[in-house]
Amino acid sequence: MSERCEVVVLGLGAMGAATVYQLAKTGVNVVGIDRHHPPHNLGSSHGDTRITRLSVGEGAQYVPIVRNSHRIWRELEALTGESLFEQSGLLVLTSSPEFDPADKTDFTLRTINLAQTYGIEHEVLNATQIRQRFPQFSDVHDTAIGYFEPDGGFVRPERCIDVQLRLAGQHGAILHKGETVTAISSDEQGVTVTTDRRTLLANKLVISAGNWSGELLGKPFENLLSVYRQKLFWFELEEDTGLVGHSPTFIFTHGRGDDKVNYGFPALAGEGSLKIATAQYHTVTSPQDIDRTVSAAEAQDMYEQQVKGRIAGVTSTVLKSAVCAYTVTPDRHFIIDAHPSLQHTLFVSACSGHGFKHSAALGEAFAQWCMRGSSDLDLSSFSLKRFEGETTNAHTPGPQQNNLNRA
Ligand SMILES: Cc1cc2nc3c(=O)[nH]c(=O)nc-3n(C[C@H](O)[C@H](O)[C@H](O)COP(=O)(O)OP(=O)(O)OC[C@H]3O[C@@H](n4cnc5c(N)ncnc54)[C@H](O)[C@@H]3O)c2cc1C
Repeated sequence: MSERCEVVVLGLGAMGAATVYQLAKTGVNVVGIDRHHPPHNLGSSHGDTRITRLSVGEGAQYVPIVRNSHRIWRELEALTGESLFEQSGLLVLTSSPEFDPADKTDFTLRTINLAQTYGIEHEVLNATQIRQRFPQFSDVHDTAIGYFEPDGGFVRPERCIDVQLRLAGQHGAILHKGETVTAISSDEQGVTVTTDRRTLLANKLVISAGNWSGELLGKPFENLLSVYRQKLFWFELEEDTGLVGHSPTFIFTHGRGDDKVNYGFPALAGEGSLKIATAQYHTVTSPQDIDRTVSAAEAQDMYEQQVKGRIAGVTSTVLKSAVCAYTVTPDRHFIIDAHPSLQHTLFVSACSGHGFKHSAALGEAFAQWCMRGSSDLDLSSFSLKRFEGETTNAHTPGPQQNNLNRA
Protein backbone atom coordinates (compact mmCIF):
# COMPACT_ATOMS: atom_id res chain seq x y z
CA MET A 1 0.00 0.00 0.00
CA SER A 2 1.33 3.45 -0.91
CA GLU A 3 1.17 6.27 1.62
CA ARG A 4 0.16 9.77 0.46
CA CYS A 5 1.49 13.15 1.58
CA GLU A 6 1.95 16.63 0.16
CA VAL A 7 5.76 16.79 0.33
CA VAL A 8 8.59 14.30 0.89
CA VAL A 9 11.93 15.66 2.08
CA LEU A 10 14.72 13.19 1.29
CA GLY A 11 17.64 13.63 3.70
CA LEU A 12 17.26 15.37 7.09
CA GLY A 13 20.67 16.99 7.55
CA ALA A 14 21.17 20.75 7.50
CA MET A 15 19.02 21.45 4.44
CA GLY A 16 16.39 18.79 5.01
CA ALA A 17 15.81 19.56 8.69
CA ALA A 18 15.28 23.24 7.89
CA THR A 19 12.90 22.39 5.03
CA VAL A 20 10.81 19.90 6.95
CA TYR A 21 10.49 22.34 9.86
CA GLN A 22 9.38 25.23 7.67
CA LEU A 23 6.84 23.07 5.82
CA ALA A 24 5.37 21.55 8.97
CA LYS A 25 5.15 24.96 10.63
CA THR A 26 2.99 26.17 7.75
CA GLY A 27 0.66 23.20 8.11
CA VAL A 28 1.89 21.19 5.11
CA ASN A 29 1.52 17.41 5.36
CA VAL A 30 5.22 16.52 5.09
CA VAL A 31 7.21 13.31 5.47
CA GLY A 32 10.98 13.43 6.06
CA ILE A 33 13.21 10.41 5.41
CA ASP A 34 16.82 9.80 6.41
CA ARG A 35 18.97 6.70 6.07
CA HIS A 36 20.69 7.55 9.37
CA HIS A 37 19.48 9.17 12.61
CA PRO A 38 20.15 12.90 12.32
CA PRO A 39 21.88 14.71 13.80
CA HIS A 40 24.58 12.12 13.03
CA ASN A 41 28.28 12.17 12.22
CA LEU A 42 28.26 10.43 8.84
CA GLY A 43 27.44 13.32 6.49
CA SER A 44 28.38 17.00 6.29
CA SER A 45 26.72 18.52 9.34
CA HIS A 46 28.65 17.53 12.46
CA GLY A 47 31.64 18.75 14.46
CA ASP A 48 30.10 21.14 17.05
CA THR A 49 30.51 24.44 15.21
CA ARG A 50 30.05 26.12 11.80
CA ILE A 51 31.19 29.60 10.82
CA THR A 52 28.58 32.17 9.95
CA ARG A 53 29.24 35.67 8.61
CA LEU A 54 27.16 38.37 6.94
CA SER A 55 29.81 39.43 4.46
CA VAL A 56 30.03 36.20 2.53
CA GLY A 57 33.21 36.55 0.47
CA GLU A 58 32.08 33.68 -1.77
CA GLY A 59 29.67 36.10 -3.47
CA ALA A 60 27.00 38.77 -3.10
CA GLN A 61 24.23 36.29 -3.93
CA TYR A 62 24.66 34.74 -0.47
CA VAL A 63 24.20 37.91 1.58
CA PRO A 64 20.37 37.99 1.67
CA ILE A 65 20.33 34.27 2.45
CA VAL A 66 22.59 34.44 5.47
CA ARG A 67 20.73 37.48 6.80
CA ASN A 68 17.51 35.43 6.81
CA SER A 69 19.30 32.54 8.50
CA HIS A 70 20.48 34.78 11.34
CA ARG A 71 16.88 35.86 11.87
CA ILE A 72 15.64 32.26 11.91
CA TRP A 73 18.35 30.99 14.32
CA ARG A 74 17.21 33.69 16.76
CA GLU A 75 13.55 32.74 16.26
CA LEU A 76 14.41 29.11 16.96
CA GLU A 77 16.32 30.08 20.09
CA ALA A 78 13.35 32.09 21.34
CA LEU A 79 11.01 29.16 20.69
CA THR A 80 13.16 26.50 22.34
CA GLY A 81 15.54 28.18 24.78
CA GLU A 82 18.46 26.41 23.04
CA SER A 83 21.64 28.32 22.27
CA LEU A 84 22.24 27.92 18.53
CA PHE A 85 24.03 31.01 17.24
CA GLU A 86 26.92 32.70 19.04
CA GLN A 87 27.99 36.13 17.79
CA SER A 88 31.57 35.70 18.93
CA GLY A 89 32.82 38.17 16.30
CA LEU A 90 34.57 37.02 13.15
CA LEU A 91 38.10 37.85 12.04
CA VAL A 92 39.07 37.27 8.40
CA LEU A 93 42.75 37.96 7.86
CA THR A 94 45.43 37.63 5.23
CA SER A 95 49.01 37.63 6.45
CA SER A 96 51.43 36.30 3.89
CA PRO A 97 54.74 37.34 2.37
CA GLU A 98 53.09 36.85 -1.04
CA PHE A 99 50.11 39.13 -0.29
CA ASP A 100 49.43 41.69 -3.00
CA PRO A 101 47.05 44.44 -1.81
CA ALA A 102 45.85 44.82 -5.43
CA ASP A 103 44.85 41.15 -5.68
CA LYS A 104 41.07 41.29 -6.08
CA THR A 105 40.74 37.53 -5.50
CA ASP A 106 42.14 37.71 -1.97
CA PHE A 107 39.42 36.43 0.34
CA THR A 108 39.89 39.12 3.00
CA LEU A 109 39.75 41.92 0.43
CA ARG A 110 36.65 40.40 -1.17
CA THR A 111 35.02 40.19 2.24
CA ILE A 112 35.83 43.84 2.97
CA ASN A 113 34.50 44.98 -0.43
CA LEU A 114 31.26 43.13 0.04
CA ALA A 115 30.76 44.50 3.56
CA GLN A 116 31.29 48.03 2.23
CA THR A 117 28.82 47.46 -0.63
CA TYR A 118 26.12 46.00 1.61
CA GLY A 119 26.60 48.27 4.63
CA ILE A 120 27.58 45.38 6.91
CA GLU A 121 29.10 46.59 10.17
CA HIS A 122 32.83 45.86 10.23
CA GLU A 123 36.30 47.19 10.95
CA VAL A 124 39.33 46.99 8.67
CA LEU A 125 42.50 46.27 10.66
CA ASN A 126 46.14 46.83 9.74
CA ALA A 127 49.04 44.70 10.99
CA THR A 128 49.57 46.75 14.15
CA GLN A 129 45.90 46.58 15.08
CA ILE A 130 45.74 42.82 14.44
CA ARG A 131 48.81 42.27 16.65
CA GLN A 132 47.32 44.39 19.44
CA ARG A 133 43.82 42.95 19.42
CA PHE A 134 44.53 39.35 18.49
CA PRO A 135 48.03 38.49 19.72
CA GLN A 136 47.29 34.76 19.30
CA PHE A 137 48.04 35.23 15.59
CA SER A 138 51.77 35.11 15.93
CA ASP A 139 52.81 35.40 12.27
CA VAL A 140 51.46 38.82 11.29
CA HIS A 141 53.43 40.37 8.43
CA ASP A 142 53.62 44.15 8.09
CA THR A 143 51.36 44.02 5.02
CA ALA A 144 48.67 41.96 6.79
CA ILE A 145 45.07 43.02 6.51
CA GLY A 146 42.14 42.05 8.72
CA TYR A 147 38.35 42.28 8.58
CA PHE A 148 36.43 42.14 11.85
CA GLU A 149 32.67 41.57 11.77
CA PRO A 150 31.07 41.89 15.22
CA ASP A 151 27.87 40.10 14.15
CA GLY A 152 29.70 37.09 12.73
CA GLY A 153 30.42 33.95 14.73
CA PHE A 154 29.31 30.37 14.74
CA VAL A 155 26.27 28.12 14.88
CA ARG A 156 25.91 24.71 16.52
CA PRO A 157 25.04 22.35 13.65
CA GLU A 158 23.86 19.31 15.59
CA ARG A 159 21.66 21.42 17.85
CA CYS A 160 20.20 23.34 14.89
CA ILE A 161 19.23 20.09 13.16
CA ASP A 162 17.88 18.54 16.33
CA VAL A 163 15.77 21.59 17.21
CA GLN A 164 14.26 21.89 13.73
CA LEU A 165 13.42 18.18 13.54
CA ARG A 166 11.87 18.28 17.00
CA LEU A 167 9.74 21.31 16.14
CA ALA A 168 8.78 19.75 12.80
CA GLY A 169 7.55 16.68 14.66
CA GLN A 170 5.56 18.86 17.06
CA HIS A 171 3.90 20.51 14.04
CA GLY A 172 2.87 17.13 12.68
CA ALA A 173 5.70 16.15 10.32
CA ILE A 174 6.27 12.41 10.04
CA LEU A 175 9.98 11.58 10.24
CA HIS A 176 11.26 8.17 9.13
CA LYS A 177 14.82 7.79 10.41
CA GLY A 178 17.05 4.81 9.63
CA GLU A 179 15.22 4.36 6.32
CA THR A 180 16.86 4.59 2.89
CA VAL A 181 15.32 5.93 -0.31
CA THR A 182 16.11 3.44 -3.07
CA ALA A 183 14.11 4.73 -6.07
CA ILE A 184 12.28 7.83 -7.27
CA SER A 185 9.94 8.27 -10.23
CA SER A 186 7.50 10.96 -11.29
CA ASP A 187 4.64 11.69 -13.64
CA GLU A 188 2.19 14.56 -14.11
CA GLN A 189 0.29 13.61 -10.95
CA GLY A 190 3.26 13.63 -8.58
CA VAL A 191 6.34 11.81 -7.31
CA THR A 192 6.73 8.22 -6.12
CA VAL A 193 9.45 7.69 -3.50
CA THR A 194 10.41 4.11 -2.67
CA THR A 195 12.34 3.30 0.48
CA ASP A 196 13.55 0.00 1.93
CA ARG A 197 10.29 -0.02 3.95
CA ARG A 198 7.50 1.74 2.05
CA THR A 199 6.28 3.60 -1.03
CA LEU A 200 5.18 7.22 -0.74
CA LEU A 201 3.19 9.27 -3.23
CA ALA A 202 3.73 13.03 -2.93
CA ASN A 203 2.88 16.23 -4.78
CA LYS A 204 6.45 17.50 -4.35
CA LEU A 205 9.86 16.13 -3.45
CA VAL A 206 12.85 18.01 -2.04
CA ILE A 207 16.14 16.10 -2.39
CA SER A 208 18.71 17.09 0.23
CA ALA A 209 20.90 13.98 0.24
CA GLY A 210 24.28 15.72 0.61
CA ASN A 211 27.28 13.40 -0.09
CA TRP A 212 24.97 10.66 -1.38
CA SER A 213 23.34 12.79 -4.12
CA GLY A 214 25.56 11.65 -6.99
CA GLU A 215 25.10 7.92 -6.41
CA LEU A 216 21.37 8.32 -5.72
CA LEU A 217 20.54 10.44 -8.75
CA GLY A 218 23.06 9.50 -11.43
CA LYS A 219 23.60 11.92 -14.28
CA PRO A 220 24.06 14.86 -14.40
CA PHE A 221 24.78 14.97 -10.66
CA GLU A 222 27.31 12.16 -10.47
CA ASN A 223 29.42 14.03 -13.05
CA LEU A 224 29.11 17.39 -11.33
CA LEU A 225 29.55 16.52 -7.66
CA SER A 226 32.77 15.55 -5.92
CA VAL A 227 32.96 14.37 -2.32
CA TYR A 228 36.05 15.55 -0.42
CA ARG A 229 37.08 14.18 2.99
CA GLN A 230 37.85 16.92 5.53
CA LYS A 231 39.46 16.75 8.96
CA LEU A 232 38.64 18.73 12.10
CA PHE A 233 41.04 19.10 15.04
CA TRP A 234 40.58 20.30 18.61
CA PHE A 235 44.05 21.29 19.88
CA GLU A 236 44.62 21.40 23.62
CA LEU A 237 45.14 24.90 25.03
CA GLU A 238 48.32 25.82 26.87
CA GLU A 239 47.87 26.51 30.57
CA ASP A 240 46.89 30.14 31.29
CA THR A 241 46.67 30.72 27.59
CA GLY A 242 44.39 33.74 27.96
CA LEU A 243 42.47 32.68 24.87
CA VAL A 244 39.21 31.78 26.58
CA GLY A 245 36.87 34.74 26.17
CA HIS A 246 39.33 36.57 23.93
CA SER A 247 39.32 34.66 20.67
CA PRO A 248 37.02 35.19 17.71
CA THR A 249 35.88 32.81 15.02
CA PHE A 250 38.49 33.23 12.27
CA ILE A 251 39.54 32.53 8.69
CA PHE A 252 43.29 32.90 8.25
CA THR A 253 44.96 33.06 4.81
CA HIS A 254 48.73 32.69 5.12
CA GLY A 255 49.74 32.06 1.51
CA ARG A 256 48.41 31.26 -1.95
CA GLY A 257 46.07 28.32 -2.57
CA ASP A 258 43.68 26.23 -0.53
CA ASP A 259 46.44 24.60 1.54
CA LYS A 260 47.46 27.96 2.95
CA VAL A 261 44.18 28.74 4.66
CA ASN A 262 42.90 27.61 8.01
CA TYR A 263 39.86 28.51 10.03
CA GLY A 264 38.89 28.12 13.63
CA PHE A 265 36.56 28.89 16.47
CA PRO A 266 36.80 30.62 19.85
CA ALA A 267 38.31 28.80 22.80
CA LEU A 268 35.20 28.11 24.85
CA ALA A 269 35.06 28.01 28.65
CA GLY A 270 35.27 24.47 29.97
CA GLU A 271 36.43 22.87 26.71
CA GLY A 272 40.19 23.36 27.04
CA SER A 273 40.73 23.35 23.28
CA LEU A 274 40.70 25.40 20.09
CA LYS A 275 39.07 23.86 17.01
CA ILE A 276 41.08 24.45 13.84
CA ALA A 277 40.62 23.02 10.34
CA THR A 278 41.54 23.40 6.69
CA ALA A 279 39.83 22.29 3.49
CA GLN A 280 41.27 19.99 0.84
CA TYR A 281 40.14 19.62 -2.79
CA HIS A 282 42.80 17.16 -4.04
CA THR A 283 41.52 13.72 -3.13
CA VAL A 284 37.97 12.61 -3.85
CA THR A 285 36.12 9.91 -1.99
CA SER A 286 32.60 8.58 -1.63
CA PRO A 287 30.28 8.09 1.35
CA GLN A 288 31.06 4.32 1.30
CA ASP A 289 34.82 4.61 0.99
CA ILE A 290 35.56 7.57 3.23
CA ASP A 291 38.12 6.93 5.97
CA ARG A 292 36.39 8.24 9.09
CA THR A 293 39.40 8.19 11.40
CA VAL A 294 42.14 10.80 11.64
CA SER A 295 45.64 9.36 11.92
CA ALA A 296 48.38 10.58 14.26
CA ALA A 297 50.41 11.55 11.16
CA GLU A 298 47.55 13.71 9.89
CA ALA A 299 47.28 15.42 13.26
CA GLN A 300 51.01 16.12 13.35
CA ASP A 301 50.97 17.44 9.77
CA MET A 302 48.09 19.76 10.63
CA TYR A 303 49.99 21.14 13.62
CA GLU A 304 53.22 21.63 11.64
CA GLN A 305 51.62 23.22 8.56
CA GLN A 306 48.81 25.29 10.04
CA VAL A 307 49.32 25.91 13.74
CA LYS A 308 52.99 25.99 14.71
CA GLY A 309 54.37 29.50 14.56
CA ARG A 310 51.01 30.87 13.41
CA ILE A 311 48.56 30.46 16.29
CA ALA A 312 49.87 30.90 19.82
CA GLY A 313 48.31 29.51 22.99
CA VAL A 314 47.69 25.96 21.78
CA THR A 315 49.76 22.82 22.14
CA SER A 316 50.34 20.08 19.56
CA THR A 317 48.12 17.69 21.52
CA VAL A 318 44.91 16.82 19.71
CA LEU A 319 42.13 16.27 22.25
CA LYS A 320 39.53 15.36 19.65
CA SER A 321 39.32 14.98 15.87
CA ALA A 322 36.60 14.24 13.33
CA VAL A 323 36.13 13.52 9.65
CA CYS A 324 33.39 15.20 7.68
CA ALA A 325 32.86 15.58 3.91
CA TYR A 326 32.07 18.35 1.43
CA THR A 327 29.87 17.84 -1.65
CA VAL A 328 31.49 20.19 -4.17
CA THR A 329 30.38 21.51 -7.57
CA PRO A 330 32.85 22.52 -10.31
CA ASP A 331 32.64 26.24 -9.46
CA ARG A 332 32.27 25.64 -5.71
CA HIS A 333 28.90 27.35 -5.56
CA PHE A 334 25.61 25.61 -4.70
CA ILE A 335 23.24 23.75 -6.99
CA ILE A 336 19.60 24.53 -6.18
CA ASP A 337 17.26 23.78 -9.04
CA ALA A 338 14.34 21.74 -10.30
CA HIS A 339 15.53 18.24 -11.16
CA PRO A 340 16.10 18.09 -14.94
CA SER A 341 14.02 14.97 -15.51
CA LEU A 342 12.02 14.24 -12.34
CA GLN A 343 8.88 16.36 -12.25
CA HIS A 344 7.82 18.27 -9.07
CA THR A 345 11.31 17.73 -7.62
CA LEU A 346 13.76 20.27 -6.21
CA PHE A 347 17.43 19.35 -5.82
CA VAL A 348 19.03 21.44 -3.08
CA SER A 349 22.01 20.01 -1.33
CA ALA A 350 25.32 20.41 -3.08
CA CYS A 351 26.68 23.13 -0.88
CA SER A 352 30.40 22.92 -1.62
CA GLY A 353 31.50 23.12 1.99
CA HIS A 354 29.92 26.45 2.91
CA GLY A 355 26.21 25.72 3.23
CA PHE A 356 25.40 25.47 6.90
CA LYS A 357 25.18 29.20 7.57
CA HIS A 358 22.52 29.45 4.84
CA SER A 359 20.54 26.35 5.69
CA ALA A 360 17.83 27.87 7.89
CA ALA A 361 16.93 30.45 5.25
CA LEU A 362 17.16 27.97 2.41
CA GLY A 363 14.74 25.66 4.23
CA GLU A 364 12.27 28.54 4.33
CA ALA A 365 12.81 29.20 0.60
CA PHE A 366 12.39 25.50 -0.32
CA ALA A 367 9.14 25.36 1.67
CA GLN A 368 7.90 28.36 -0.34
CA TRP A 369 8.87 26.58 -3.58
CA CYS A 370 6.84 23.54 -2.51
CA MET A 371 3.81 25.67 -1.68
CA ARG A 372 3.81 28.14 -4.56
CA GLY A 373 6.54 27.18 -7.04
CA SER A 374 8.88 30.10 -6.25
CA SER A 375 10.71 31.64 -3.30
CA ASP A 376 11.18 35.15 -1.89
CA LEU A 377 14.95 34.67 -2.13
CA ASP A 378 16.51 34.85 -5.59
CA LEU A 379 18.21 31.47 -6.02
CA SER A 380 18.66 31.70 -9.80
CA SER A 381 22.46 31.90 -9.63
CA PHE A 382 22.52 28.33 -8.29
CA SER A 383 20.83 26.91 -11.37
CA LEU A 384 22.05 23.71 -13.03
CA LYS A 385 22.08 25.50 -16.39
CA ARG A 386 25.44 27.04 -15.70
CA PHE A 387 27.00 23.58 -16.10
CA GLU A 388 25.35 22.73 -19.42
CA GLY A 389 28.00 21.17 -21.63
CA GLU A 390 30.11 19.93 -18.70
CA THR A 391 31.08 16.43 -19.73
CA THR A 392 33.87 15.41 -17.44
CA ASN A 393 33.84 14.69 -13.75
CA ALA A 394 34.70 17.79 -11.77
CA HIS A 395 37.30 16.24 -9.54
CA THR A 396 39.97 18.79 -10.23
CA PRO A 397 38.83 22.37 -9.67
CA GLY A 398 40.22 24.76 -12.27
CA PRO A 399 42.62 27.56 -11.32
CA GLN A 400 39.86 30.17 -11.37
CA GLN A 401 38.29 28.39 -8.44
CA ASN A 402 41.25 28.78 -6.14
CA ASN A 403 40.65 30.89 -3.08
CA LEU A 404 36.92 30.83 -3.64
CA ASN A 405 35.15 29.27 -0.69
CA ARG A 406 35.98 29.41 2.98
CA ALA A 407 33.55 27.36 5.10
C1 LIG B 1 34.35 19.83 7.85
C2 LIG B 1 33.26 20.74 7.39
C3 LIG B 1 33.29 22.07 7.77
C4 LIG B 1 32.30 22.95 7.33
N1 LIG B 1 32.32 24.24 7.78
C5 LIG B 1 31.31 25.07 7.44
C6 LIG B 1 31.24 26.36 8.02
O1 LIG B 1 32.09 26.73 8.84
N2 LIG B 1 30.22 27.17 7.66
C7 LIG B 1 29.26 26.77 6.78
O2 LIG B 1 28.35 27.55 6.48
N3 LIG B 1 29.28 25.53 6.22
C8 LIG B 1 30.28 24.68 6.54
N4 LIG B 1 30.32 23.41 6.03
C9 LIG B 1 29.31 23.01 5.05
C10 LIG B 1 27.99 22.62 5.67
O3 LIG B 1 28.17 21.97 6.91
C11 LIG B 1 27.26 21.75 4.66
O4 LIG B 1 27.10 22.50 3.46
C12 LIG B 1 25.89 21.34 5.15
O5 LIG B 1 25.96 20.86 6.48
C13 LIG B 1 25.36 20.26 4.22
O6 LIG B 1 24.06 19.90 4.61
P1 LIG B 1 23.23 18.88 3.74
O7 LIG B 1 21.86 18.88 4.29
O8 LIG B 1 23.42 19.19 2.30
O9 LIG B 1 23.94 17.45 3.95
P2 LIG B 1 23.87 16.48 5.21
O10 LIG B 1 23.69 17.26 6.45
O11 LIG B 1 25.00 15.53 5.10
O12 LIG B 1 22.49 15.70 4.98
C14 LIG B 1 22.26 14.76 3.97
C15 LIG B 1 21.36 13.72 4.59
O13 LIG B 1 20.81 12.88 3.57
C16 LIG B 1 20.68 11.58 4.10
N5 LIG B 1 20.56 10.66 2.97
C17 LIG B 1 21.46 10.52 1.96
N6 LIG B 1 21.03 9.60 1.07
C18 LIG B 1 19.82 9.15 1.53
C19 LIG B 1 18.91 8.18 1.05
N7 LIG B 1 19.12 7.49 -0.09
N8 LIG B 1 17.80 7.94 1.78
C20 LIG B 1 17.57 8.63 2.93
N9 LIG B 1 18.42 9.55 3.41
C21 LIG B 1 19.54 9.82 2.72
C22 LIG B 1 21.95 11.42 4.94
O14 LIG B 1 21.83 10.40 5.90
C23 LIG B 1 22.10 12.80 5.55
O15 LIG B 1 21.53 12.87 6.85
C24 LIG B 1 31.27 22.50 6.46
C25 LIG B 1 31.24 21.16 6.07
C26 LIG B 1 32.21 20.27 6.55
C27 LIG B 1 32.15 18.83 6.13
